[in-house]
Amino acid sequence: MEILFLIKYGELALKGKNRPAFEKRLCENIGTQLKGSEYRIIRKFGRLYVETLDKYFDRVSTALKNTFGIVSFSRALQAPKEMGKIEESALILAGELFKGQRGSRFKVAARRADKSFPLNSYEIACRLGDLLLKSIPGLKVDLNNPDWILNIEIRDSVYLYGPEIKSPGGLPLGSSGRSMVLLSGGIDSPVAAYLMGKRGLKIDAVYFHTPPFTSEKALSKVKELAKILSRYLLSISLYTVPFSEAQVRIKERAPAAEMTLLMRAAMMKMAEKLAGRCNCNSLVTGESLGQVASQTAESLRFTGNQPSLPVFRPLIGLDKEEIIEIARRINTFETSIQPFEDCCTLFTPKRPLIRPDLKRMQDSFRSLEIEELLEIAVNSAAVFTF
Ligand code: ATP
Ligand code: MG
Repeated sequence: MEILFLIKYGELALKGKNRPAFEKRLCENIGTQLKGSEYRIIRKFGRLYVETLDKYFDRVSTALKNTFGIVSFSRALQAPKEMGKIEESALILAGELFKGQRGSRFKVAARRADKSFPLNSYEIACRLGDLLLKSIPGLKVDLNNPDWILNIEIRDSVYLYGPEIKSPGGLPLGSSGRSMVLLSGGIDSPVAAYLMGKRGLKIDAVYFHTPPFTSEKALSKVKELAKILSRYLLSISLYTVPFSEAQVRIKERAPAAEMTLLMRAAMMKMAEKLAGRCNCNSLVTGESLGQVASQTAESLRFTGNQPSLPVFRPLIGLDKEEIIEIARRINTFETSIQPFEDCCTLFTPKRPLIRPDLKRMQDSFRSLEIEELLEIAVNSAAVFTF
């Protein structure tokens, strides 16, 4: 094929005996994104390579940039283990990098994994450095602060490559199991879903929909967010659960100050029921410590106490600004800030509890007698796949 990408993966290397399973998962995830294009994934000696045709260059680059588990990738040239051929490839690659206006200061970084190759790393670097200086006018060697690096690795074959393009790192999607994210239309929960996907969790999502208090547009916004997230999370099943009846019950029976917390607790319960049916091992929320009254340690103790599954809150220690920075990077921000009502803001009490008493909240929750309503709501969930 015409194009070769060399892929580096970081943490995977730490996984010992599980490594083959992780690598296999990574290959499958890359394959899922490249369906319909011609490509070949090659796994050998701790590296992955993707071969493809010129016309798929952008498609493959985009896929690799969004794949969890990959740290970086580079376009590479392959050469046989003969110095003459290696020099030819080095000249082609250096010419491209120089012409691509990356600057004139360069360095050659050589690595000889195959010790039977007659020149050692230092000798290879010197030899190629001299050749480039002689053959391409204007180039300068700068070992400390180069504009670009020409990398060469002697392995099963010889690979030459230029700059490394950053990917998100983390673990291959699915290698940590499945999780159910509570996805609202806000800024935080899509970021939380992304971050846990990056730790290897395949993500399903649940949205609690409260018509007529919230409009169909609020639901469309959540669908749009799920669609954007599916770029990274490969595919998402979004479950929409009707929450209005339960919400009305809470409003009728609970003191205003406890409403938000009881709604959250009810959501956690329903999310857990759904998680059980979807084979999820955990829940994910977009909560961040102290961001609002329902996210103080005491509040989280109560709401997080409802499910027995672990609740992952990857934003717990992040400031809003830090969360927004990630939301912009993953492209969810602009959709999240569209102004549609949120089910909980409509019912938000003027003076919510900040330091709720656990025992009292548990009693309040019991007095809602809401179990059956929650069960019915979960049973009538609709599912959309992105
Ligand atoms: P977000 O930006 O994700 O809406 P937020 O800071 O507005 O977060 P809250 O409204 O307090 O936070 O909600 C806390 C978490 O509860 C959310 O991050 C989300 O995980 C979950 N959540 C809230 N409302 C819903 C909903 N209608 N459907 C599903 N999950 C929800
Ligand atoms: Mg919200």
